[in-house]
Amino acid sequence: MERGAMPIRVTRSSMPPFEEYADMIKPLWDSHWLTNMGDFHQRLERELKDYLMAPNLSLFVNGHTALEMALQAFNLSGEVITTPFTFASTTHAIVRNGLTPVFGDIRPDDYTLDPEKLEKLITDKTSAIVPVHVYGNICKTEEIERIAKKHGLKVIYDAAHAFGETLGGAGVASFGDASMFSFHATKVFNTIEGGAVVYQDPEMAHQINGLKNFGILDEETVALVGGNGKMNEFQAAMGICNLKYVEQEIGKRKQVYERYRMRLADVPGIHLCPDDPQVKRNYAYMPVVFEGFPKDRDQIFRELEEHEIYTRKYFYPCVNAYQCYQDRFRPEDTPVAQRISHQVLTLPMFADLPLEDVDRICDVILERR
Ligand SMILES: *Cc1c(COP(=O)(O)O)cnc(C)c1O
Repeated sequence: MERGAMPIRVTRSSMPPFEEYADMIKPLWDSHWLTNMGDFHQRLERELKDYLMAPNLSLFVNGHTALEMALQAFNLSGEVITTPFTFASTTHAIVRNGLTPVFGDIRPDDYTLDPEKLEKLITDKTSAIVPVHVYGNICKTEEIERIAKKHGLKVIYDAAHAFGETLGGAGVASFGDASMFSFHATKVFNTIEGGAVVYQDPEMAHQINGLKNFGILDEETVALVGGNGKMNEFQAAMGICNLKYVEQEIGKRKQVYERYRMRLADVPGIHLCPDDPQVKRNYAYMPVVFEGFPKDRDQIFRELEEHEIYTRKYFYPCVNAYQCYQDRFRPEDTPVAQRISHQVLTLPMFADLPLEDVDRICDVILERR
């Protein structure tokens, strides 16, 4: 390893200046109002609604709970079609609602749910489709929603990776019946832990807002079997501070992304995600697929690790190969997802990653042994 070179982590949380956050939370010592939809909660909901161009938005304590409760709000039953090429949360949210996930394969270029393989998975038990805008690659929303409409299915997107993105000027939150966003510490925009559900039908408000507060509608009416999904005031204050800098952070991520592309895009055996000019991206992740490259994914993972450069096999294994779902699914049924999960590596990506570090990372990848 180069003398004096520092370890490079795969991600690093964005944080506002300390004084700004400290000033922000000071009033909480006067009000003693720490959670339960306080002033910061209401303010962040308004600000995010604007930023995401969202028709309706409800904050949650984390993205996973937001997704679980969004699925519950739509009263789904039976089977839900989803992708195995995602984070554990997507499938677990389906299963924890008592629903049966049915895995569709992904597209070989952007790794989102393949609409061409979707329709044959629909049965008379199917009630919804839960696609994922994986790595911020926006799904084939038009095709997916055309199929959903034809069969009377709900579409609820896992948009955890797609914060603030637009497609042809339309906010990513405008697609489907609802979308879940995650504001976890490692995401492009964070509230330490946090999340939101954006939904199209204003009539859903009392379901979504009710479920996150034990189903309590008013002092004497508990109308839903809800849980506790409330975002607290310290989280919301962090969000208000971080939101001011998010465009700037995305701008810095873009420079990192462009440096990676400059170094890696034309290398035989290295595949990067397509760069759709219609999409305003957030540069959340830097996935690289190695196919026909002199070194395989696991070798590159180890070589980078030897240089104290930490990457993630994100997503490996596919969800349908998880131990907890053993004997229930066959990863061979989604061959593209299975193959990509063995070939993909997400490289370090965060706003303050120095471009010299990007070069160091690319040098190790491209170096011949
Ligand atoms: C982060 C993430 C989630 C879960 O969000 P949390 O805020 O961590 O609960 C769900 N799905 C995907 C694809 C994610 O990346």
